[in-house]
Order: sequence, then structure tokens, then C-alpha cells
Amino acid sequence: MPGPAASRRRQEKSGGGGLRMAKKQKVCYSKENTPVEGFAGLQPVTVAQARSPSGKWEQGGKTMRIVDIHTHIYPDQVAQKAIAALTKGPLRPLTGCTAAEAQQAAEASGVIYSVCLPVATRAKQVEHINRFSAETNSRYSKLICFAGIFPGAADMEAQIDLAAQLKLPGIKIHPQFQGVFLDDPAMVRLVCLADAYHMPVIFHGGLDIAKPYPLYSSPWRAAHLLQMAAKQGVSKPRLIFAHMGGYALWGEVEKELVGKDVYFDTSFLAGRIPKDVIKRIILNHGAERILFGTDFPWQGVEENRDFLLSLGLSQQQNQAIFYDNAAALLHLDE
Ligand SMILES: [Zn+2]
Repeated sequence: MPGPAASRRRQEKSGGGGLRMAKKQKVCYSKENTPVEGFAGLQPVTVAQARSPSGKWEQGGKTMRIVDIHTHIYPDQVAQKAIAALTKGPLRPLTGCTAAEAQQAAEASGVIYSVCLPVATRAKQVEHINRFSAETNSRYSKLICFAGIFPGAADMEAQIDLAAQLKLPGIKIHPQFQGVFLDDPAMVRLVCLADAYHMPVIFHGGLDIAKPYPLYSSPWRAAHLLQMAAKQGVSKPRLIFAHMGGYALWGEVEKELVGKDVYFDTSFLAGRIPKDVIKRIILNHGAERILFGTDFPWQGVEENRDFLLSLGLSQQQNQAIFYDNAAALLHLDE
């Protein structure tokens, strides 16, 4: 079945310093020494929604459309190895992470599309990853794979050009696993190139449970990146900072990023951020700049959906977060 990537989307085509390190503990803190919050265990979430016979979820009698902007898959031959490496710490997946399993999970949870985010941890992996992404998009009707790009690679521009030719609709960057600070000049260059190709870029934001330190993805560095990109003439970059802008650094997000013209996604937050904090961030930042995401296979659609619905946002705000904002960003309805 031809994938949505082929048929529905149009494709036209050292850090800022300031990281302080406590010598003995080998722990890095962000510039503001923001206390690390949000590592509390999962809390139960009230489910107040009824599932329709079609498998879609209803709110106020209307079927909710859902795009999950943040999921991960791996090629079949490396999926088990990848999961084994990532589960050395506290993370446990809900299921496997092959494309077939992600498609199955999307169908079971009534998601229209799952956006899959590959991470290129080395420059030489990039082309292989992106060809796999394109092949997946053509084979799986519910999966939309972004491109993985390695910031600062000698052939970065050519790789972004190839990603555009392969009709990959966006770029995933993971500073924690790529070892590049968010405000490194290579990131600024990447943002400029992505802007030229009209490609959104989604960055991991904040700590990563599997690789928390050094902290490459601080919210204040994200704000610095925006400033540097604006100086290069990028006035309205399509940038998404995952995990509400900075996992476990919510205070710094509120100080540095809330209200700026960037998107946050809601991935991996069910039960991991105080409800009053996430609601305040959404309302102050604007629901029109929030995208629903899960971080599948590490969390699922149902727990994140119910967590968000329990915040008591309006139906219009929920519709924007669960579908409309992503649909506009990815040209899904064109
Ligand atoms: Zn993720």
C-alpha cells in the first residue's frame, strides 16, 4: 500500500559554553542549575473516555483524530540489539520496536499516523537510515519516518538534500546521543538548511533517562539556538523541542522557551510531570504550539492521551494538540 509519505505530503525540495561541571560527581548542570524534577514514578491516570467501535477515541461525542509525533522504530535486524542497549537503565519498552510492531500499535490505538524519529549517532549511518525511512514510508500506511541527520557532518547539506529527495518530511536530532550541544554552530547551520528545505526539525529536549549527562539539550541552549538562527535570517523556523521543551527541566523551559515561536511535544510525560506544571506550560505557550507524542515504545498512546485529557483543556485545544497542529506542520490534509 502506498504510504502517506508518498501520496499526501509535499516536499519542495562548540556550543555556547556555560556548562558547569561539578568536578567530583561528574554531573553537569544547566546554566541556571535548574533543579531536576519529574523523575517520580508513574502515577495512575484516570480514564474517562469511551472507545468507539472503529477503534478511534471520542471526546464530547466527536471522534478524535490523533497524530503521534514522537515514536521510534528500528530495522528488523537491529531492533533487538537496540532495545537491549537502551534497557540497560530504567527504561522498559511496551512492545518491540520494528516497523510492523509500530504499525500494529498505531492501528490498535486508533492513531492516524505515527511519526518515527531515527537517531543517527554517527555521520556514516545517515544515508542508510534515511533509505530505510523512505522504504518504511512506502510500505507502512500509518508510519511517517523523519530523516536522521548528524549535525556538523562534512556532507550534512548533501544528506539533507537526499532526505528531501526521499520525501522525508522532517529531521530528528538527538543532542544527547550525538554529543553536539543544541547551540553548537553546526546546529545553527542545520536549522538554516532545514529552513531552506521547508523541513521541520524535532530535537530531543532536556535530560534523557538513558543518557542524561553531559546535558547537551538544555532549554537555555535551545533559546540560544533560536537567537543564533534568527541572526542568520531564519525568522520562523519550524522547530519542535520534545518532552515539553526539556525533560525534567520544566522551570528552565518556563523561563527560557515558553512563548517563543517553537513547538513542544508531549512525549514521555504521562505521570512524569506534575499536572499543574504541564497545564500551565500549555496555556502560557499556547495549545497551537503543542504536538501530541508518546515516545513509543517507551510509553503508549492511551496513557499519554488520557493524561492530557485529564488536564481539562477545551475540546478545541485538545483537537489542536492531538491532530490539527501536526496536520498543518506536515501538510497531511493537502
Ligand atoms: Zn524519543
